[in-house]
Amino acid sequence: MTYLQHSIISLRCTHIYHAISHPSFVMGDKITMTNERTPLITTVVVGTPRQRYPHQTLRRFCTIALGSSLVALLITFLITVISVPSSSHHHPWPGHGHEHKRLPYEELQAILLETPSADRASEWSKYYTSGPHLAGQNLSQAEWTRDRWEQWGVKSDIVAYDTYINYPLDHRLAMLQKQTASNGQKSDAWEVKFEATLTEDALEDDPTTQLKNSIPTFHGYSANGNVTGSFVYVNYGTYWDFEDLLRANISLEGKIAIARYGGIFRGLKLKRAEELGMIGCVLYSDPGDDGDITEEKGHKTYPNGPARNPSSVQRGSVQYLSIGPGDPTTPGYPSKPGAPRQPVEGVLTSIPSLPISYAEALPILKALNGHGPQAKSLNEYWTRNTGLGYKGVDYNIGPSPDHLVLNLVNEQNYTITPLWDVIGIINGTIPDEVVVVGNHRDAWVIGGAGDPNSGSAVLNEVIRSFGQALEQGWKPLRTIVFASWDGEEYGLVGSTEWVEEYLPWVSAVNVAYVNVDVGVRSPTFSASAAPLLHSLLHEVTALVPSPNQTIEGQTVRDLWNGHIRTMGSGSDFTAFQDYAGVSSLDMGFGGPDEEAPVYHYHSNYDSYWWQSVYGDPGFLYHKAMAQVLGLTVAKLADMPLLPLNATAYAVALDEYVEKIESKLTSSDTKPSTTAEIFEFRARGAKKELVGDRDAFQRSLNQLHETIGEMKSVAVKLDEIASKLAKQAEQHIPWWHWVKKLKLFHRIRSVNTKYKNIERAFLYPGGLDGRSWFKHVVFAPGIWTGYAGAVFPGLVESMDNNNFTNAMKWVGIIDSCIKRATETMH
Ligand SMILES: [Zn+2]
Repeated sequence: MTYLQHSIISLRCTHIYHAISHPSFVMGDKITMTNERTPLITTVVVGTPRQRYPHQTLRRFCTIALGSSLVALLITFLITVISVPSSSHHHPWPGHGHEHKRLPYEELQAILLETPSADRASEWSKYYTSGPHLAGQNLSQAEWTRDRWEQWGVKSDIVAYDTYINYPLDHRLAMLQKQTASNGQKSDAWEVKFEATLTEDALEDDPTTQLKNSIPTFHGYSANGNVTGSFVYVNYGTYWDFEDLLRANISLEGKIAIARYGGIFRGLKLKRAEELGMIGCVLYSDPGDDGDITEEKGHKTYPNGPARNPSSVQRGSVQYLSIGPGDPTTPGYPSKPGAPRQPVEGVLTSIPSLPISYAEALPILKALNGHGPQAKSLNEYWTRNTGLGYKGVDYNIGPSPDHLVLNLVNEQNYTITPLWDVIGIINGTIPDEVVVVGNHRDAWVIGGAGDPNSGSAVLNEVIRSFGQALEQGWKPLRTIVFASWDGEEYGLVGSTEWVEEYLPWVSAVNVAYVNVDVGVRSPTFSASAAPLLHSLLHEVTALVPSPNQTIEGQTVRDLWNGHIRTMGSGSDFTAFQDYAGVSSLDMGFGGPDEEAPVYHYHSNYDSYWWQSVYGDPGFLYHKAMAQVLGLTVAKLADMPLLPLNATAYAVALDEYVEKIESKLTSSDTKPSTTAEIFEFRARGAKKELVGDRDAFQRSLNQLHETIGEMKSVAVKLDEIASKLAKQAEQHIPWWHWVKKLKLFHRIRSVNTKYKNIERAFLYPGGLDGRSWFKHVVFAPGIWTGYAGAVFPGLVESMDNNNFTNAMKWVGIIDSCIKRATETMH
């Protein structure tokens, strides 16, 4: 293992170094350049003296004058060439396919639309979902991935990190009851009233579920422990669910929480339970959250129908995602062998937890019937989507009486073990503009046909397509880095460590990060993105035919509602967007769809069989997703002008400020959408007022003003960019090389501005209490985990009623916006 790690790491170092610092094209181009100019030099060389004849002096004068101007011209040319990046004389703009064998963009686009194949995607899906590939236990899949990418012509290697991670050893969940003696008194002996199997049923139809080496049901980064106590139903376990319980005088200390999944990141449910003195937590999947596709509403359960299989269990990480992702022992620096490690106390939960199915939650929830208040007596947030009433659950809160307890055992092996990112590189001609594209490979289950390997299949098809283009002599303008991340499921570990390792380089060159996690799990396209990338998403989805065409010729864009969420967390874009300030986007066919079959998230039933029968029969959405991803990357990597839109950023910022203003004036309005409800329920408790609320409100005007200035500069930048884009499309003959150079310079300068806009929003001090998060506009909500919070520092201060701190954040945000504006000047 040690030798292997060593060789992997040295490989990695040389590889990246080569790609970044010594791109091979630089050498190649310089040689070409010298050869091209050699004839010019020879014309200057003075020949052997000739016989004297009349006008000799004039002739000589002319020769010298002409020669000198040629030399001067050559020197000017060389100086210009040296002062700009190597590709300047190469003129790699589209529309000039005949020059230097450059593949025209239209041809590249055709390749990226025609190459992806549904059958191939199905083949890759089958491969990845054929055996366990939990984080740090998937070397063969990492090697297979690297080999495929190499086979398709993309130089690839494995990058390893030594990370702190847990693997399941043993678990138990049992409901114990004190026996009643013949005299009616409770005796001291406990009897087992219910012993949970903690397993998912093997299904005859679905071969994956029958495999003997299935991964046990457990939580990543969960605490070891053996606890016994009464239990309390805590609803979704949001901040306000717990507040409601405290207000209803429900005793929580020393009790075990029974929480339903959903709404907020699971680790944050545990965080609050632990803070309130609870000793363990059981998380179950309530079918009430499956909308209309439930057994109660007449649907058959998987595999006979689209409803949730009652034994399905959602595994998952209970890390505190909103505090900081990555290896919890190496915050802010890479987990390389020998790296110093920080203690995890306070960083990871200290109470044991287990995930269970609704079938196994039933006896526990029913045991609460008649104990404590009913959920409906608290408020309306407690009766949302209660889906087990028809099975006899009254949703009583408890606690269970002293003679009825749960015994929860969680035994995890914590270890430091290598994770393997696969990194593939296509070198571009511009060394300091790089596009990174990633998907994670690790899954909680043998399957993972949706999460993440629909994305892995899609990424493979994209790389295979680019391989086809490479074969036809294509070379992108910008370098493309492909990543198959490991350890995403535990807490975005593989991607976070990689960004932490290459931060200076990422910061200098990375123009955008494109993420696909779940590539396909429903027919509904869904995306979240930084505002700079919004227009690109609209543009690209309009180029891809929809697999479902109610009207002939419909594109993915036609069937998509066009809504783009703000960047939160929950996948590998987090380190790029929130830590390194790289404009990122995350997309997939995974949007909410009321008619789509229930997706068995992190369960054995997220299998190849489910995907091919219910999720994406025929793998047509996989193909469409590969087309969308391929075109997104192509536009980012191969358009002379970066396809980013600065005006959209200013417009979005203005909207975010308006949102804050309406929050200030109408703090009592009831939330209506699911997202709003969870955002509302996840806010911290109102604390005592600090500072001047009115002064804060007035300070928001300052933000509007600064954003207004940003907008006018952004509009100008976008105008210049679109003019330059048009010029880049025109043919400029080689003898107008001065004009070409000028154009190149202007394009470079505009692109550099676009690249740096997002960086301007990083605040080195980071957010309050979670300094790893550096972006002042986007971060996961502190108590939601997944959902994107805008102006997080400011909004959290408002939620804490601390307007002094909120004004501090207005100042920080204001200077960031000003910096972004300067960047664009
Ligand atoms: Zn995933």
